[in-house]
Amino acid sequence: LVSRKRQADDTVVEINGERVGDGQQRLIAGPCSVESYEQVDAVAAALKKQGVKFLRGGAFKPRTSPYDFQGLGEEGLKILRKAADKHGLAVISEIVNPGDIPMAVNYVDVIQIGARNMQNFELLKAAGSVDTPVLLKRGLSATIEEFMNAAEYILSKGNKNVMLCERGIRTYEKATRNTLDISAVPILKQETHLPVFVDVTHSTGRRDLLLPTAKAAFAIGADGVMAEVHPDPAVALSDSAQQMDIDQFDEFISKLKESGLYKPQA
Ligand code: PEP
Ligand code: MN
Repeated sequence: LVSRKRQADDTVVEINGERVGDGQQRLIAGPCSVESYEQVDAVAAALKKQGVKFLRGGAFKPRTSPYDFQGLGEEGLKILRKAADKHGLAVISEIVNPGDIPMAVNYVDVIQIGARNMQNFELLKAAGSVDTPVLLKRGLSATIEEFMNAAEYILSKGNKNVMLCERGIRTYEKATRNTLDISAVPILKQETHLPVFVDVTHSTGRRDLLLPTAKAAFAIGADGVMAEVHPDPAVALSDSAQQMDIDQFDEFISKLKESGLYKPQA
């Protein structure tokens, strides 16, 4: 079902009145974790100012250590919804438990399935059983074929509104947090009809690489880019080293536009 051979036309996913995958270049931005209403509201206002329509934020955080901040749960989803509604944005948030999908669809416009859960087949099936759009991230060490099969799980349950996100893979290279597999973008565009995003934050883990990798993503044909933004990254409860503050986000957008590689429609 994901194959370009079965469907030649690009899938266009409608999110809150916005069409993703129709050739417009999109940005998804927001904090790693939802920490408070004030935090999310500050980021949402910055997105609105820049014409970015998709607000991300983690409420259920799949942390490597059980002692790290685990997220605010449903309360975090409520905060996202409230801030997004105030600023006219769509909400994207990761869900980790299949049993939370029916609750989550009351708050989110897009269900994110994170890298660590790309092969959580019960979660894929649960996300496939609703019609809320899904942003599926590539597993930490998943091949492109495994990634496409994970998407197939969702489509096979009836949900056609799937978007893919390359977010870097595990390699021996230590200079970046993961290795951004940029060639996955044109491969996924050729092999599937689904919109393809690149997460520049988690793939690189480096603030200084967000702009060049975002340019590369758009240059190579990505439908969109995801990046993390926090009002005060130094005190962030997760991913403090790589989130942009709001001034850096404004600069990121203006440099992307200047590059001519990112041409958002008015
Ligand atoms: C995230 O986007 O919040 C996240 C945890 O990313 P990933 O699943 O790609 O590690
Ligand atoms: Mn993060």
